[in-house]
Amino acid sequence: MVHDSSFHLHNIRIDADQTVGITVRDGVITDVSAGQTVASDELASIDGANGLILPALVDGHMHVDKTLFGQPWLPYPAGPDRESRIETEKQLRNRFPAPVEDRAAALLRQVITTGTGALRTHVDIDLPIGLAHLHAILALRDRFKAFLDIQIVAFPQSGIARSPGMADLLDAAVAEGADLVGGIDPIAFDEDLTAHYDVIFGIAERHGVGIDIHLHDAGPTGVKELDGLIERTRAAGLEGQVTASHAFCVGGCDEATFERLAAALAETKISIATHGGGASPLPPVKKLRDRGVSIFAGNDNIRDTWTPYGNGDMLERAMLTAWRSGFRTDEDMEIALDLASGAGAKELGLAGHGLDVGCAADFFVVDADTPAHAVADRPVRRMVFKRGRLVARDGALTAQAEAELR
Ligand SMILES: [Zn+2]
Repeated sequence: MVHDSSFHLHNIRIDADQTVGITVRDGVITDVSAGQTVASDELASIDGANGLILPALVDGHMHVDKTLFGQPWLPYPAGPDRESRIETEKQLRNRFPAPVEDRAAALLRQVITTGTGALRTHVDIDLPIGLAHLHAILALRDRFKAFLDIQIVAFPQSGIARSPGMADLLDAAVAEGADLVGGIDPIAFDEDLTAHYDVIFGIAERHGVGIDIHLHDAGPTGVKELDGLIERTRAAGLEGQVTASHAFCVGGCDEATFERLAAALAETKISIATHGGGASPLPPVKKLRDRGVSIFAGNDNIRDTWTPYGNGDMLERAMLTAWRSGFRTDEDMEIALDLASGAGAKELGLAGHGLDVGCAADFFVVDADTPAHAVADRPVRRMVFKRGRLVARDGALTAQAEAELR
């Protein structure tokens, strides 16, 4: 019997002039053969029409509970700083026209059509909403589980030390299913580095989860916050389980400080998540990779009270990261693509990401000559497969996916 997730994909390229045929059985790649290939009798055959195949994109940093994707246009409502954005969001979120489940689901459906197969989303935990957003996103994680691998970070957007009661709420969020504990600017925003790190490292150690903390501050304050993170990671033995999101200070410091930080990040295996764009100093992608520091990409905020930008497309994020980094050669553009794909998969702990035999059949097909060409053009995703099932075609979910997600 022909299984839904077993087929032979032929007439497909992995680069400008390398045509292959890929056999998938029960959602796993079982054969990759060079040249024009034909399916064995029992398998369905799918014509790749000479398209380029790429492994699933991975969005390593999102905020799906904040999004207004699919909602009427909202002109940017906040002031120019972090404090104003946080307060504005708190005031407006109860008056959004759609509940968090619907807004987040609209964005999740969109990212499937762009070829994203896995993502890590930070979810707001604060005193006014408690765990309400977490419960909504946990339910969506379950509803979307055949389409997206979703990791959840319990994110204290309004601080911890400055919000009595938050430590217990964050602990409860992890106990109820968040995969990692988050944090935010322990000195410049939360105004108590020691208390902030005591709480998040305490939760990480008690529950055996990783940490992904927002560090926005550039300059000496950011460096002090990152130094603290490095020190606490070592002390807790959490090497390889901690991410610094943004880490703008790594992009804005002097050479000697950069080298010191890069060596410490590599040694403690603290990774950096970047959204690649914006006006803040970007951590230098190639220099960090050269020094053994893992860096991966995410869209961050998409169409919410924090930013009017974003469409959920990680190929676009790869392009922005490449553009901002001054990447022009194919080789460099493929590094930007790796940030949006393989590097993210590694950080999210996804086994079997890629196009090799044994990998999960999570991939998509575009009309492009090479991977770099795909980054530059961001063409429509002609076919998107998740665990060997066709889930989207030409920018829209398949009818079967629509039915299952209803
Ligand atoms: Zn963020």
